[in-house]
Order: sequence, then C-alpha cells, then structure tokens
Amino acid sequence: MAIAKPVRFLGALSVVLVFFLIYQYLQPVPTIDTPGTVVGNGDKIENWEQDPLLEPIGEPPEPLWRHTDHDYAPESPNSARINATLLSLVRNEELNELLPTMRQLEETWNSKFNYPWTFFNDVPFTEEFKQATQAVTKAKCAYHVIPKEHWDMPSWVSQELYEESAKILKENDVQYAGMISYHKMCRWNSGMFYRHPALETVQYYWRVEPKVKFFCHVDYDVFRYMHDHNKTYGFNINLFDSPESIPSLWPETIKFLAAHPEYLHKNNAMAWLVDNTRRPENNIKAHGYSTCHFWSNFEIADLSFWRSQIYEDYFTHLDRSGGFFYERWGDAPVHSIALGLFEDASKIHWFKDIGYNHIPFYNCPNSPKCSGCTPGQFYAGESWLQREDCRPLWFKYVGMG
Ligand code: GDP
Ligand code: MN
Repeated sequence: MAIAKPVRFLGALSVVLVFFLIYQYLQPVPTIDTPGTVVGNGDKIENWEQDPLLEPIGEPPEPLWRHTDHDYAPESPNSARINATLLSLVRNEELNELLPTMRQLEETWNSKFNYPWTFFNDVPFTEEFKQATQAVTKAKCAYHVIPKEHWDMPSWVSQELYEESAKILKENDVQYAGMISYHKMCRWNSGMFYRHPALETVQYYWRVEPKVKFFCHVDYDVFRYMHDHNKTYGFNINLFDSPESIPSLWPETIKFLAAHPEYLHKNNAMAWLVDNTRRPENNIKAHGYSTCHFWSNFEIADLSFWRSQIYEDYFTHLDRSGGFFYERWGDAPVHSIALGLFEDASKIHWFKDIGYNHIPFYNCPNSPKCSGCTPGQFYAGESWLQREDCRPLWFKYVGMG
C-alpha cells in the first residue's frame, strides 16, 4: 500500500531531527572551561596553557616577617604586629560552625601571630558565644553590636517596592531574594562595616566566615606582607556572579563614572570587568559587566581604600539607587568593581598560598604545607561548578603576581 506523501515527508523529517539531536548531544560542552581548552566563543585563554593552580608553590619571595624572628606574644606591648584584626560578622546561632573555622585558622596561622579577633552582630552576642570563641585563641577577642543606622534599610528605600522587587527576583531564581537580613548584610559589608567605631584605628582586616576551611600552614605575617608590599586587597577565589542579582549595578557604575571620569585609575582592571569572551550571556544580562568578582567571604584588605573619598562617593551613589534592596547586589561585585576601576591593579594580590574553602569552592595549593584538599581542586559537587571559576580572566588581564 502506498504511503501518503505528507506522511513520508514527516517520517524523513523525524529521521533528520533524530540525527541532529544525536549530533548535538555528542558535541563537547564548550562552557566547562578547563585550562588550555577552547572557551565559549572559540577564543583560547592566553597564559592559561598550564594550570597555575597545580604549580608547586611556597611562600612569597623574601623578605617576609616570620613568627620565629619577631615578638608576636599575645599581650606584648612591643609586639611586631601591625594595626590589624581578624573580622567576623556572625550570628549567635552560628557558633558551632564558627568554632572549627577559628580553630583551623588559629592552628595554621594565628597562633603564631596572635592578631586580635573582632566580632560583629546586629544583635548582642550571648555570653556563651563570647566564652566559647575566646577559649580557642590566646589573642584578644572583642564583640560589638552594629548600630541600627548602619544595619537597617535606609529611609529612602520603600518597603513596598522592596517586597514587589523581591517577587521578581524570586521568579528569576535569585538566591536570598526575599531574605531582608541578607540584603542588609550585603549592604553593611559593602559600605558600612568600616564605619564602626571599633575599627576606627584599625588599618587591615582579614574577613572570616563561619564554616570556611583553611588548609595550609602559613608562617609569615600576612598583614605585614600587605603593608610592606603596598597591597590594598588580597583575594583567594575569583567567581562569576549571578547576573540576575545585579542587572543595574553596571549601568549605575557607568553613570557614576561619567560624572567622575577622574576617579578611574590609570592602571585599572577594566578589561577584567568588561570581558565578554568567557561567559557572554552573563555580560549581556549584567549589561556590560563580566560578573567576575573576588569572592568576598575571604578578603584581606586595607580599610583606607573603603574610607577613601572615591569609594565613599561610589558607595553613596549605589546606595541611593536602592539596588541593595530592589535588586540583590552582593558586597563581592560592589567591592570588586570599585577595586577594578579605582585602584591600581598591581595592589591587588592573589593569596594563592592560603588554602581555603567556602562551600562549594576551593583554593587548594600544591604545597607540602597543605592538607585536607586536592591540589588544584576548584569545587566539590557537580561538575558544572568548574565553569564558575573566573581566575583565568584575572590571570589573563592582570596577571598572577
Ligand atoms: P553566603 O556565604 O552568601 O551564603 O552568606 P552567609 O549566610 O554565609 O552570610 C555571610 C556572612 O554574614 C556570614 O559570616 C554570616 O554569619 C553573616 N550574616 C549573614 N546574615 C546575618 C545576619 O542577619 N546577622 C548577623 N549577625 N550575621 C549575618
Ligand atoms: Mn557564607
């Protein structure tokens, strides 16, 4: 029996379609970038032929201040410590997640240098929290409540508009969109923490979050390193952000730059901020920003940068636009954009020798001083996480120094 023409045509079409789908399926996924592979648009990432994360590393070149050569006794009035603190914004309920982190950082580094710890909270710390944290360090611990005017939603942000915006953000799967405390936390970390009177006379801080891990013994004073090498900011992991959380952050930044072109540093990292080769869809959704940022749950930095007139003006501009609430701007992209535009890129340091994990990402150096992670490992969990690594772009545009 003869088959009707249209049916034969549809049969042939479905065979072609099946072959096409098989062909598509067999194509390599171009967006999971491993060193030396071809990225999304076919460009090869230069200087990324060898995995820098697997390079055996030691400490930075001498001279370094070591605990064995100087006085770092906890209470010593003439100690070699400089004006710096370990800094943690944390909730009372996170005590049991903070203690293992503190113990690890004390064991690998701070028990040799005894830098003080400064804890911040939007509500008073409990006695239990204070006693338990002080018990794991010889160094001095201080506990501070954040003033309401630093923490609360500012007066020019509308509660109603925030609630409406949060619905849209949730539809776009923005994490923590409806959690007002998360928005407050991001704003505080962006532009408020350094205003706390407890930090008035402090110059450097190392930010520590509960649950993070430290894998390597570090035997030199990292604050002294920052100071002696004239570094402003030290990072550990560089990631792509969720563009849905920051649609107007880059447009607001461009407006600010147009009003203050003189603020752009000569040796800026603009190319890193605007890259569109590796994750073009992020750049499009963020309206021109690569979304590449320093993952700010780890930062070792000089407070003078945040206190500068330039950053003050930039933060005020962003804050007035309401994006910390109407969108869900993180402090990581805000800090990163400011550093990338207004700071000398050579003053930003990759602490490759500090083995670190905040779920799900790692910085795991190849060094006998490290244990507990796999050298070169970047993530734990599903393999798509590998493509969130943005370090190759930092290395490409700025370098590994
Ligand atoms: P994530 O890393 O982005 O998932 O965010 P986290 O929940 O780890 O929060 C970042 C940091 O801010 C952590 O150190 C938290 O302990 C702290 N934090 C977040 N929200 C609050 C809050 O409402 N109050 C206090 N005191 N700390 C907070
Ligand atoms: Mn965290």
